[in-house]
Amino acid sequence: MAGEGTILLEWMGEAPMEGDLLERVRQQVETTFAIPTRVAAVNGSPADSLDPRRGQHSSTRILRWILTTLPPGVAKVLGITDVDLCIPVLTFVFGEAQVDGPAAVVSTARLRLTYDGRPASARLVEARLLKECLHELGHTFGLVHCPDVTCVMSRSNSVLDVDQKRAGFCRDCRQRLRALTEERDDP
Ligand SMILES: [Zn+2]
Ligand SMILES: [Zn+2]
Repeated sequence: MAGEGTILLEWMGEAPMEGDLLERVRQQVETTFAIPTRVAAVNGSPADSLDPRRGQHSSTRILRWILTTLPPGVAKVLGITDVDLCIPVLTFVFGEAQVDGPAAVVSTARLRLTYDGRPASARLVEARLLKECLHELGHTFGLVHCPDVTCVMSRSNSVLDVDQKRAGFCRDCRQRLRALTEERDDP
């Protein structure tokens, strides 16, 4: 899968960037999409994303802000944050993406906890983060939600759903992804 530019994983969390974790996720994102992928720490943060009433951040506002930071030559930018994300109709979201657009955001906040609220192991957090990164990037390439619960494009409402899926696309989604990226390369 070729395509112009690179995928940029942008750390925008409040805590310092975990270099090893992001580097391992980067390698796997690069392998999965076969597009050069790099990691960077973002400069600044959106001023208007915190909802003080909920104590959570609007994923939609973060997305809008990420778009204003898009460097040249970058095909997709995925912001990775540690703040808890929400949209008006849901108590939280793991992430949000523009379907067939350049930007997406993922939060590690809920991925760090087990279903009953204890800290999850580093290995589990990494596996979940990778899945959510592939999921949101899949959306940016034009993929929609998949009915196969083991496919990374299936919708996740809880960490149990995330743990149930594989860190990869089902056959249908892989074919669709190939078709979508080829369309783009070959107008
Ligand atoms: Zn989704
Ligand atoms: Zn699928």
